[in-house]
Amino acid sequence: MAEGRTRAAWVEVDLDALAHNVAVLARRAAPAALCAVVKADAYGHGAVQVARTALASGAAGLAVAIVDEGLELREHGIDAPVLVLSEVGPDAAEVLVRARLTATVATRQGMEALAGSARRAGTRARVHVKVDTGMHRAGVAPEEAPALVHAAAEEPALRVEAVWTHLAVADGTTADDRAFTALQLERFDEVVAALAPRPRLLHAANTAGAVAWPAARYDMVRCGIGLYGCAPAPAMASEGGEVAAVLTSLRPVLSLKARVSSVRELDAGERPSYGRRRALPERGVVATVPVGYADGVPRRLFDTGSPVLVGGRRRPLAGTVTMDQLMVDCGPSAAVSPGDEVVLIGRQGDEEIGAGDWARLLGTISYEVLCGIGPRLPRVYCGAGAR
Ligand SMILES: *Cc1c(COP(=O)(O)O)cnc(C)c1O
Repeated sequence: MAEGRTRAAWVEVDLDALAHNVAVLARRAAPAALCAVVKADAYGHGAVQVARTALASGAAGLAVAIVDEGLELREHGIDAPVLVLSEVGPDAAEVLVRARLTATVATRQGMEALAGSARRAGTRARVHVKVDTGMHRAGVAPEEAPALVHAAAEEPALRVEAVWTHLAVADGTTADDRAFTALQLERFDEVVAALAPRPRLLHAANTAGAVAWPAARYDMVRCGIGLYGCAPAPAMASEGGEVAAVLTSLRPVLSLKARVSSVRELDAGERPSYGRRRALPERGVVATVPVGYADGVPRRLFDTGSPVLVGGRRRPLAGTVTMDQLMVDCGPSAAVSPGDEVVLIGRQGDEEIGAGDWARLLGTISYEVLCGIGPRLPRVYCGAGAR
């Protein structure tokens, strides 16, 4: 099994699982196009490889959070449409235009700065106008949206391709959440009805919207978390029905693995690691694993009781996670040696630990677990798309 160059800890990215997830989501959203959201280094999976595989598996385009992320894709020869999901300032607009990225516009000043950059570059910048229908993070107010769209359409240096919005609770399963998503879509439809002509593309859905809200699919869906094999919210995958069936058919893409660096046999009552927080319940083998909180294994994971997989079995941490290493209580007379593979996230034998399991125990969401897995760990790609 492949691993990092010098490091005995690595992230494995299964590009076959990714291709499968892209196909599942594209089929679910069709005839709407699928835009693969690869911001934050593709949620920790590696933006360039994920983008290539997603495009080869049915994604029509890509989306990123910031211009630098779009530049990285262009520098690696990726020529597909890349939407920058936030309006950017004048300096970043220069770079955005030269890299032929697609801009989000949400204000008149943003629109004018972008048009200035496009004129100076002697080109037309592609624009998606963002409407705030209730998320209240970014976007033009619905009542001001038609005027902004029309002003952008009149600007010769801009090409308005799309109008879009973002849903705040598409992953929610309560009646309140569903009513709010319906309200956001209604506000969006009202804006669209006031536009003449209608722009080529409308989009509103994240993974949750794409899977659970047919009315939110419009012409394109923007999927992130689903590509990586996680449900946007655990309840969506456990409620049964068609939505749960789609989400549970997604395959996890990322595994977090390491090799045991040393083992020692310790007596009952010994307390490994900083703070000496846990006593070994019986004499047994404690394995040291060279991965820690600097790599995105939360220090608090120990407090949650979350296990890791060694020899195909779930084993508890023997003490607090340290910056670069952690220790595992492998139990009495366990046959564990330096070099043995430890799985922190992923599958080993019949056992599996998902990013969602960490999220539940840590009181967060799988998004934060995945994005938290740090750049110090090498990404190793496997599957047909790997090279
Ligand atoms: C991150 C993001 C997405 C993707 O959301 P998922 O829930 O990961 O599918 C879509 N749209 C916008 C504007 C985003 O910021």
